[in-house]
Amino acid sequence: MAICDFCGESQRGGHVRVGRYRFCRQTCADQGRILQALDAFPSSAINSYVEKTPADQQVNPLLARLASKLKSDSRVDVSLLNSDEVKPERYSTYCLTWISMWTAVLDFPRKDREILLRALYR
Ligand SMILES: [Zn+2]
Repeated sequence: MAICDFCGESQRGGHVRVGRYRFCRQTCADQGRILQALDAFPSSAINSYVEKTPADQQVNPLLARLASKLKSDSRVDVSLLNSDEVKPERYSTYCLTWISMWTAVLDFPRKDREILLRALYR
């Protein structure tokens, strides 16, 4: 029994092999292409990046504080930040919400701001 290099599930029987990687199904092989791409980078560079990626337990309290700050301003609508579509009559609120969000992020202490920015851009 082998382990899928993408999802980590045990696999029996059929599998998909791509280069030195083995996947339980084609979906994992498709998504696992990133593994081959990462082979081009030195592992020290990847490890360094992963170590700098904030964990959820660091990020979630900061996101909660950010959301709380934004919700205290009646002019913004946080739900617009995740909207796939914004109606024209909501454009000004949408822009104000984004501006308020980035302004609020910049108001955080530097260490927290770095964590937030890394989380928001991942
Ligand atoms: Zn898999």
